[in-house]
Amino acid sequence: MAVALLVGWVLGLVWPVLSIVLALALGRWLWQMRRLLGWLADPSQEPPEALGFWGDLYDRLYALQRKAQEREGELKSRLNYLQDSLSSMHDGAVMVTYGGAIEWSNDAAQRLLGLRYPADRGQALLNLVRLPAFYRYYIAGAFDDPLQVRMQGEREQVLQFAVTLFGNGDRLVFVRDVTKEAHLEQMRRDFVGNVSHELRTPLTVIKGYLEMILASAQQLEPRFRRPLEQMSQQTDRMESLLKDLLWLSRLESVRTQSRRERVDVALLLQELVIELHTLYPERSLELTVDTGQKVAGDYRELHSAVSNLILNAFKYSPDDTSVTVLWRQHDSELLLSVQDRGIGIDAVHLPRLTERFYRVDDSRSSATGGTGLGLAIVKHVAAGHLAELRIVSTPGKGSTFTLAFRC
Ligand code: ADP
Repeated sequence: MAVALLVGWVLGLVWPVLSIVLALALGRWLWQMRRLLGWLADPSQEPPEALGFWGDLYDRLYALQRKAQEREGELKSRLNYLQDSLSSMHDGAVMVTYGGAIEWSNDAAQRLLGLRYPADRGQALLNLVRLPAFYRYYIAGAFDDPLQVRMQGEREQVLQFAVTLFGNGDRLVFVRDVTKEAHLEQMRRDFVGNVSHELRTPLTVIKGYLEMILASAQQLEPRFRRPLEQMSQQTDRMESLLKDLLWLSRLESVRTQSRRERVDVALLLQELVIELHTLYPERSLELTVDTGQKVAGDYRELHSAVSNLILNAFKYSPDDTSVTVLWRQHDSELLLSVQDRGIGIDAVHLPRLTERFYRVDDSRSSATGGTGLGLAIVKHVAAGHLAELRIVSTPGKGSTFTLAFRC
């Protein structure tokens, strides 16, 4: 512009020269911009050659473009790597959108659930996986524990489903074939059940003879009396152990959901209080019923769970304290609690309390005649009724065991 101004001044034609030069400069910019737009429309080509400002601009844009391409390539290979690893997984994996549509599934999911990918992409998962138990599990949205489903078909197959949430309410459904594990578990249960059953007959014989011998106590040599009495006590203990083991194996093998009745819990509690009052007239048992709601389930199982809780409350609290049983509704839950004012339980034991044979204090528990299976039974009954067992306890003050049912 300065040169144009100088030439124009020398020639005495400042404005015409300046206008011509300006028009040429503008034309060049417009031409470069068209080249730029042309290149941006198809950036796979080499950038146009240019000098000065435009050259710089092309170089920088080209460098940025190369970097973005490199990153894209890297991301693509990572994504492929991830998809490859998920695809090659032995377990099935299905990505499901917030709305319930299948986004992606791996080979195992296609094999186990009969899905097809990519043909089924966008289809509702629940329309393709038609299992009532899975439907309920998926809709309920409580995915803390996995779900096991026994498949109907020529070949016996047990599938385990687990769901995790990610992103914006999207879900990742994992499915695994646990047929072998379920079979082993069944064998273990059957074994415990059969052993308990088989041991009952010899025990009944031993118990019968012991009772017979003890009945004729006057003919007994005094030095045999005490050992025989102890043998009799221990056979009683063994009998209740076998009874509990059998009951537990029954609870484990029968799926409660399939035989549901409407259990009137208030009535059950009233009957139980009368029974226990007859058996333990020295103990005070207070019952408060605040709801008439019924629970879907099995009367015998609920009866055994609550009586285990009350008997524990009796066992682990002094005779002169009372035990309170409360049946009430709180928000969307029905709560059955058994509260004692006894020795309580230290918090460290609470997570393991429902394990079979777990005892806080072995000597005290066997002195009270417990089998160590009571709370395991309660936990199984709770699980069969989709209820939760909650334990709150303060050592030296007492404990409250609550069965929380969903309304
Ligand atoms: P047990 O037959 O030994 O009572 P349970 O399975 O019923 O077996 O209970 C497991 C352990 O939990 C018991 O040994 C006892 O230590 C503890 N426990 C259960 N209920 C109570 C309670 N109400 N108060 C204090 N401790 C309890």
